[in-house]
Amino acid sequence: MAPCSSRTGLPPRRYPVVELAECIVCGVCVEVCPAVFVENTAGYVEVADLDDYPGPCVDEAVKNCPKDCIFWENE
Ligand code: SF4
Repeated sequence: MAPCSSRTGLPPRRYPVVELAECIVCGVCVEVCPAVFVENTAGYVEVADLDDYPGPCVDEAVKNCPKDCIFWENE
């Protein structure tokens, strides 16, 4: 059984993180998963604030990121 978050009693939420120090803003993640990864007006990649993140889409971005700077974190 998956561990539960003590705050909500629900399984911990996974969310993607971009390590901005490594990101070269190549745009691959934005291309493969535009619902999650957005290039902001300052020229950085941001992760959209969603209640739930589409695993296969984010995994595709993780797999294709040339700098390996996208990873999952648990809340
Ligand atoms: S694929 Fe990786 S390096 Fe390219 S913009 Fe996204 S996070 Fe940055």
